[in-house]
Amino acid sequence: MREYVEEEVVRKVDRLAKKTCDICGKTVKPHQYHDDDWTASAFDVSKTIIEYHSGHSYPGDGFMGEIYHYDICPDCFEKHLIPFFESLGAEPQVEDV
Ligand SMILES: [Zn+2]
Repeated sequence: MREYVEEEVVRKVDRLAKKTCDICGKTVKPHQYHDDDWTASAFDVSKTIIEYHSGHSYPGDGFMGEIYHYDICPDCFEKHLIPFFESLGAEPQVEDV
């Protein structure tokens, strides 16, 4: 027979406290549930996601490799990245959702 007692367990987790733009240095405290968002609001959405995943993915094992990630604020995305991609001949794919 086993007998259990209720025990409080304290654990540490990494919580995103702030995010800084890699280009202009703008710092924000994102909403706790939306790490990719540059607003502190639960309802406004202003996300930028720039990643490159390079590696292997086998069924059941998940992804193994490297992820290149940049934190770029929406202002720098519009001011720098869109013109840069357009200078290379790339047009953005814009969806209305
Ligand atoms: Zn920026």
